[in-house]
Amino acid sequence: MPGFIIFLYIAAGALSIALLVWFIYAITKIQRNTEMIDNNTQKLEDQNATIIFLLSSINVELKKITNTKETTSSEEKSGTNDNQPNNEEAISEEAKVKPRNDRIVCPVCGTDQPSLRNVCFNCGCKFIKE
Ligand SMILES: [Zn+2]
Repeated sequence: MPGFIIFLYIAAGALSIALLVWFIYAITKIQRNTEMIDNNTQKLEDQNATIIFLLSSINVELKKITNTKETTSSEEKSGTNDNQPNNEEAISEEAKVKPRNDRIVCPVCGTDQPSLRNVCFNCGCKFIKE
């Protein structure tokens, strides 16, 4: 009989050690997964910002091309007038902005857009963040 009781004690001890080891393993794994998720989220945010930046750059380039075309066609219509002020050039200027609730309102054209933008997607105005 005492032999059986000793066996029970050892069995219970082994079981609790096994549970403890499993518990520590599970916590470590959860922690590692959380770190991985954090890293991936950060990567996605970086990529997102890059894509938004690239898109705005493309937009500005497109605006420039469209403006050049408009200027050329209007020059062709009205004949050669070198003294005419170039309005398209004046629009692509710089302006100080204050992002509010992750949004920016372009001070030049009044377009509401995400504060991640460095350039207005509507008028091409450069944002200087305060
Ligand atoms: Zn604008």
